[in-house]
Amino acid sequence: MNDLNRRAFLAAGAAAAAPLVLPLTAAGASTTAGVRRGRGGPVVISSGNGLRAVIKAMEEIKAGADPVDAVVAGVAIVEDDPDDMSVGYGGLPNEDGVVQLDSSVMHGPSHKAGAVAALENIRNPAQVALKVLRRTDHVLLVGAGALKFAKAHGFKEENLLTEKAREAWLRWKENLNADDDWLNDEQHVDRDARAERAEQLGIPWHYGTIHCAALNAAGDVSACTTTSGLSYKIPGRVGDSPIVGAGMFVDNEVGAAGATGRGEAVIQSCGAFQTVQHMAAGLEPEQACLKTLKWIADHTKRRSLLAASGRPNFNVTMYALRKDGLWGSASMLKGGSFTIHDGTDARRMASPALFE
Ligand code: ASP
Repeated sequence: MNDLNRRAFLAAGAAAAAPLVLPLTAAGASTTAGVRRGRGGPVVISSGNGLRAVIKAMEEIKAGADPVDAVVAGVAIVEDDPDDMSVGYGGLPNEDGVVQLDSSVMHGPSHKAGAVAALENIRNPAQVALKVLRRTDHVLLVGAGALKFAKAHGFKEENLLTEKAREAWLRWKENLNADDDWLNDEQHVDRDARAERAEQLGIPWHYGTIHCAALNAAGDVSACTTTSGLSYKIPGRVGDSPIVGAGMFVDNEVGAAGATGRGEAVIQSCGAFQTVQHMAAGLEPEQACLKTLKWIADHTKRRSLLAASGRPNFNVTMYALRKDGLWGSASMLKGGSFTIHDGTDARRMASPALFE
């Protein structure tokens, strides 16, 4: 898509008064007209926290691993990291102080998916999701059933709440519980104000997740998303990450897409599925991400989710990898980033933003 088309695309129907940032630094996407072909695989893309994941997944693919095993091995590094408070061990807990994890995995060649939601006490939910994919005729297991299934497959239970995460939760309980996610008919959560108050009090509060997708030299694609979800969520809340078509989707004929950020918005837009469909219709990955984000913006109606300018007040970052090796990402608001390994180098890059 050339700059003129890009501008027209972004301007068409964008929330009226909202300033737009043109994605001039389109990473991996063409700035020339028409659909450009990529150089093929191997390519691995991940969210901004996934630099170690893309390196690991690329090593695995080069050693001959199936891309689905490669992405699950890649994200395990972040699931295991107690300092990443958005995923796996050390993730921030729900309102009751319990860490509940969500994950989904999809294997392009077999078009089979596996997922777990609200899984407790198991640090690598992506590995459990892969077992659901391989060892069941189902797609999604939740809660106690997911835990029972994980234990049957030899996963060890452990307390995932680190001291750091427990202290953060306790400070939230003591200071912010009037700003929880329960709403009455008239109430609107002022998310910006809540995030600001949390920041002033030094309390971590965030959405946070790792997404990773891989393409091998044979043109096969797989993807995975894993998360501890929204901090201090209502117990049992499930985000987009384990929802196939929302937090992640693969069509081996087209490519893969995934999302991080406000899961409710991604579920209500079938974000990853929509992004893959946009690529199937001919859009390059970055443009496919932007089109999904614009759809989300156009369908965001609740006052509590809109800034004064009319744009959404939350962030979502989309990631896309096309079967021919082209890749791209975009965010609703500034601040999103992604990581890429093109077979030679791994690097972290800013995701172009739909809105200033
Ligand atoms: N999408 C995740 C969720 O809503 C969180 C995130 O990616 O930040 O659970």
